[in-house]
Amino acid sequence: MSETLFSKIINREIPADIVYEDEQCLAFRDVNPQAPVHILVIPKKSIAMLTDAMETDEALLGHLLTTASKVAKQEGFGDAFRLVVNNGADSGQTVFHLHVHILAGRSFSWPPG
Ligand code: AMP
Repeated sequence: MSETLFSKIINREIPADIVYEDEQCLAFRDVNPQAPVHILVIPKKSIAMLTDAMETDEALLGHLLTTASKVAKQEGFGDAFRLVVNNGADSGQTVFHLHVHILAGRSFSWPPG
């Protein structure tokens, strides 16, 4: 997979405000926050988008969700947050390294825009 902004963050080639890291994933604050708390959780493995994930990635995908929950709790929003995964350019994906948005700290409307 080609290098993206997020692989550069994983490799510490560009800076980010990292709030959590383990052997499988990294979480850092979004540079253009859409809520008081806006954090991205990304796998260290290069997967461009959710539809590129394989059956063998199931444990990793689950880990991204449990990590998102852990990070939301760490930020003080353990039971009031929204997770978003944009898949593909038409859904609004702009960085082609799989990521889960954690949004918290305000109310959210439904359906999303
Ligand atoms: P998406 O539109 O779902 O692909 O989300 C990409 C997100 O990455 C956007 O919310 C951007 O604000 C965010 N973003 C882009 N570059 C950076 C960066 N260098 N550090 C942190 N967040 C970034």
